[in-house]
Amino acid sequence: MSKDIYVVVEQRNGNIQKVTYELISEATKLAADLGEQVVAVLMGYKIADKAQSLIHYGAQKVLVLDAPVLEHYTTEPYVRGIEYVIKNYEPNIVLFGASSIGRDMAPRIAGRVHTGLTADCTRLDVEVSKYQEYLRKATNLPEEKIMALDTSDRNLKMTRPAFGGNVMATIVCRNYRPQMATVRPGVMELGEKDTSRTGEVVMVDAGLTEADMNVEILDVVKQTKKAVDITDAKILVSGGRGVGGPEGYNPLRELAAELGGEVSSSRIGVDSGWIEKDRQVGQTGKTVHPELYIACGISGAIQHQAGMEDSEFILAINTDKFCPMMQLADLGIVGDLKKIVPALTEAVKAYKA
Ligand code: FAD
Repeated sequence: MSKDIYVVVEQRNGNIQKVTYELISEATKLAADLGEQVVAVLMGYKIADKAQSLIHYGAQKVLVLDAPVLEHYTTEPYVRGIEYVIKNYEPNIVLFGASSIGRDMAPRIAGRVHTGLTADCTRLDVEVSKYQEYLRKATNLPEEKIMALDTSDRNLKMTRPAFGGNVMATIVCRNYRPQMATVRPGVMELGEKDTSRTGEVVMVDAGLTEADMNVEILDVVKQTKKAVDITDAKILVSGGRGVGGPEGYNPLRELAAELGGEVSSSRIGVDSGWIEKDRQVGQTGKTVHPELYIACGISGAIQHQAGMEDSEFILAINTDKFCPMMQLADLGIVGDLKKIVPALTEAVKAYKA
């Protein structure tokens, strides 16, 4: 019988990526609802020492696939590794980060194990059965008791934006196992690390060899420019079409530097080649939760809001006082950003002096 929630760990050069910890944190909540365990699947070479950190975030068990062919991410050996785990351990649910690696692996694995995949999820819940609904209405039983009384119909509800972000679609996979989803980085809440947690580490030999490689790695070239991770920034100064061009981001950079934040952008700035893709906020960009989000010349299209609406405080600077961003904002300044942003920078400098 299919059982437990498996999280496919994403590591780069031995560093576990934040999305993995977010997924483990979310999986622990789902596992509590289902009465199942969280199992992390860690793949790489000489990687077993990283297993403990997965346990500290809530994995009860870590399956480690350690092989020289897994030293660098390549599609085929990694896909075979997860395929082996699914066929031999029969998980109920398998979760991947919706990163470039997760998006590469997950659909191939779904095809090979003949199940469905919901890509780019922004929310996961456990379905409640009709029996549970009845118990909730007709009795005073506590929630844990109700969940424990019935294990039927507990499918995973996988929610993702559809039709250009205009509706949220909730998808269930009733007839096939495992239920598989990729989840967007930055969406699920990161739980607390607890070094007193203990768990089991199991070395798994999936029989992966050089013969599983269908490409040859000749050289690994590291990106010289450090990629920015806007999802970690506490303050974001974000620009849209209203900045007018690539140089229009310079005043935003100055303000961000004064505030100790980062610059981000709407998709228009990225598509126009004004700013790097890794700074895009929104449905097809990154999901951010900064303490302060300053939206400069951004109208607030639904696809942009999808990536920033949970910011703690939103300041909108826009010439159009009726635009959606003004409706969403905690505070709005109506006017030309070319005057307002430099004035804000000066005000921050004066405050700090
Ligand atoms: P606009 O909507 O053109 O708004 C520009 C704003 O600037 C206006 O409100 C205007 O009043 C203001 N302005 C102009 N001049 C000034 C000035 N001098 N001072 C102050 N204000 C000024 N968009 C994203 O951002 N992220 C995504 O991830 C994303 N994904 C998408 C996915 C799909 C499938 C689709 C269909 C669209 C997606 N979009 C995304 C695009 C989105 O629909 C909008 O087109 C985009 O967000 C608009 O960007 P904007 O607000 O910068 O530009």
